[in-house]
Amino acid sequence: MLYLIKSLLIDTLCRLFHIRRKPVVIQMPVTSRCNSRCKTCNIWEIKEKSDIDPDTLRKVLQDDYFSEVRSVGINGGELTLIKHPEEIINALLVLKKLDYIHIISNGLLPDRLLSLLEKIKQITVKHNVKLGLTLSVDGVGSVHDEVRGIKNCFERTKKLMDELAQNSKCYCDVMDIGCTLSRYNIPYVQQTDSFFSGYPFTITYHLAVPNKRIYTFDRYDYYVLEDERSNLLATEFFYGKFLKTSFSKQARIKFRYFANYYFLKKKGYGRLSQCSYLNRDVTIDENLDIFLCATASDRIENLQKKTPAELYKQGSFDEMQRQTSQYCNTCIHYVDLPNLKGVVLFMCEILNYRWSWGNKYKFLSKW
Ligand code: SF4
Repeated sequence: MLYLIKSLLIDTLCRLFHIRRKPVVIQMPVTSRCNSRCKTCNIWEIKEKSDIDPDTLRKVLQDDYFSEVRSVGINGGELTLIKHPEEIINALLVLKKLDYIHIISNGLLPDRLLSLLEKIKQITVKHNVKLGLTLSVDGVGSVHDEVRGIKNCFERTKKLMDELAQNSKCYCDVMDIGCTLSRYNIPYVQQTDSFFSGYPFTITYHLAVPNKRIYTFDRYDYYVLEDERSNLLATEFFYGKFLKTSFSKQARIKFRYFANYYFLKKKGYGRLSQCSYLNRDVTIDENLDIFLCATASDRIENLQKKTPAELYKQGSFDEMQRQTSQYCNTCIHYVDLPNLKGVVLFMCEILNYRWSWGNKYKFLSKW
């Protein structure tokens, strides 16, 4: 609770006075190569392929601007397609306060992923850094194959899930399943959810939404809001999960379900969560271009051309913050801690459900 109040206060002050702090989290898409053909992502269609260069990355991260970074999220593309991905991990260790690395993988190369995770874990253990993994799974059987655009890939994914369920501690410290919900898999979401319940993993559901980084910002045929039935199914699903999740044991997850439900109910408007990318964290891509978030921010600059201090001095961060903030109310990415409006509506919904406030609550639902 204290942590929430502190973070609410800092978030509000930073927004009011346009204060930008040093990043604590870096989101790092390290390659544009991908072996999946997902219907919710267009990165695989881009012809120019590149990987991050570990030596240059190490140099860039030595800048004092990155001295507070504790956590790095590695995604792509697909990490297992890079020749020596462990060199990227070694480059990250130049960050003095780093205590967590999180990898997202599509799991299409299970053996390669498992042996890579074993190698990375040996490195992270030595340096007292925790390793997290998200495995992307978008449905059961042909639903997953269809969304991924790869025939029979679910079998591989399932074998990987079985191995990780048995021996996850050999490969990482924490893991979850990330399930992206779109028009293509929402009709099967109950079946998917009941399949996942047989595994000991946390499941993170998120909506496929417009995203600049993966070239889906202007094309959104995958979006549940583009189709009334899909929207209804998704809204019902998130509200059902909100009701079933315990407040005392999993308040943060319960809030995430509520924020997604509210966003869908408001037809894609109404962010109830804080977002650290607006006034603190950053994204660095495979070309060492720096952005705020991956969702709506444009490239600020290439870090080989200008240092973060130079960018800060010339007002580039502030300018990008102004540009990006116009999208925040239509964005459901990175939902974690609630903003002030989120706290009020979340608590009201819980109380309303418990004691059925009826009409007294109606004025709030218009907010
Ligand atoms: S657009 Fe979304 S991800 Fe980007 S800063 Fe705003 S809320 Fe955060």
